Amino acid sequence: MPSYRDLLQQVKSEITEVDAPRASELRDHVLVDVREQDEWEEGHIPGAVHIPRGFLESRIETAAPDKAQPVLVYCAGGSRSAFAAKTLEELGYENVSSLAGGFTDWKRSGFPTQLPQTLGPEQRSRYSRHLLIPEVGIEGQLKLLQSRVLLIGAGGLGSPASLYLAAAGVGTLGIVDDDRVDASNLQRQIAHSTEALGDWKADSAKRTIEALNPDVDVVTYKERLTSENVDRILADGWDVILDGADNFPTRYLVNDASVWHDIPVVHGSIYRFEGQVTVFKPQDGPCYRCLFPQPPPPELAPSCAEGGVLGVLPGIVGSLQTNETIKLLLGIGEPLVGRLLLFDALETEFSEVKLRRDPACPVCGEHPTITEYVDYVEFCSGSKSDTVRPTHA
Ligand SMILES: [Zn+2]
Repeated sequence: MPSYRDLLQQVKSEITEVDAPRASELRDHVLVDVREQDEWEEGHIPGAVHIPRGFLESRIETAAPDKAQPVLVYCAGGSRSAFAAKTLEELGYENVSSLAGGFTDWKRSGFPTQLPQTLGPEQRSRYSRHLLIPEVGIEGQLKLLQSRVLLIGAGGLGSPASLYLAAAGVGTLGIVDDDRVDASNLQRQIAHSTEALGDWKADSAKRTIEALNPDVDVVTYKERLTSENVDRILADGWDVILDGADNFPTRYLVNDASVWHDIPVVHGSIYRFEGQVTVFKPQDGPCYRCLFPQPPPPELAPSCAEGGVLGVLPGIVGSLQTNETIKLLLGIGEPLVGRLLLFDALETEFSEVKLRRDPACPVCGEHPTITEYVDYVEFCSGSKSDTVRPTHA
């Protein structure tokens, strides 16, 4: 019986080996890394396809369907790849070579290596229920980890939204909120605790999020969103804006800025037992102004502070907003673009209203008449409004 060393030597004598400098010049070869997952995760040769040795026979045809195409296989030191090369020859591959000295020699010789984009063991465990869903999987989870969502407000809607986005592994969350935690917030704003009373909501939410998921970076903006700061904040780069604002000036400002910056807005609003959710995707569907060219007079648009709200309602609406946000980030499902979802908590009833883009919209229409930020507080003060279209603060 030959020993392993004898067998390896025999196999090596039967195959073609190339050293790292020669391998670095091969451009037309399919490069196959036959090492194990943990070795691959620590770095590989750029452009390589990863097929662990145990899956070589079953997966090679996907990577190299044409057996006349030259293949270069490598492992860590050149032994496993020698056996792999032999196997590929037996499978009919006509031009196979093995990298002598393997990845170790390649790296030592100073040739480029690449770290694969993948999840670490802790992330695999944390996001395992996402990884099981084909529509998410590793690719989708990596996408979420690289995503950036800006939350307008860390209050009733922003609280559940920020927690679920953080739990889902959305890598960067921006929080714009100039308010401090008040005792009357705690009935619904679940990102904050009794301990946080008096603290900035942005700071309190950041602490809660970081305790929940250390993968998430939280960027806080302890300021009220205004015409003066909106461009600076949006310039930090956001994939989606989740609007949890409780006032009309901010809503109109967020709308105009999002159209001009081309960022989709997931809108939510609540009042007593009623909630609304929709997605404003610039150029793809209506914007907020298509629906409400004029704000309602203040006396017809009471805020939660004035009219009250059932504490769990923002939990439901904020969660629906989070669902829409995650769908937009992953590019899956049918987002609520051009659809206004209404929820009645007393009846436990959902209904939907179709929304159309207004070609005459002053901001996103064919001939926009508003092309720069206005005084949103004055615009919403009621002095200029002539159309009454009720909505909920
Ligand atoms: Zn519009």
